[in-house]
Amino acid sequence: MNICPVCNSGRLQRRTMTYIEWYGKELLVIDRMPALVCDACDEQVYDRNAMETLQRLLWSPPPTKTRATVSAK
Ligand SMILES: [Zn+2]
Repeated sequence: MNICPVCNSGRLQRRTMTYIEWYGKELLVIDRMPALVCDACDEQVYDRNAMETLQRLLWSPPPTKTRATVSAK
């Protein structure tokens, strides 16, 4: 069982949260994101593995556009 790093008295309980983040101009909503929630102060800590997976997906998107060509006159 994890002790809450914020209040040092509560325990972090496994929950699933809705994770919302702006990604560029897109609002990213992820349902059932694994998280840990303190039962004393309600501090929310997202699951580190889930965050890393998410950020890998976000930060290395597959190339959808070919590299912009330099316009020559
Ligand atoms: Zn706490």
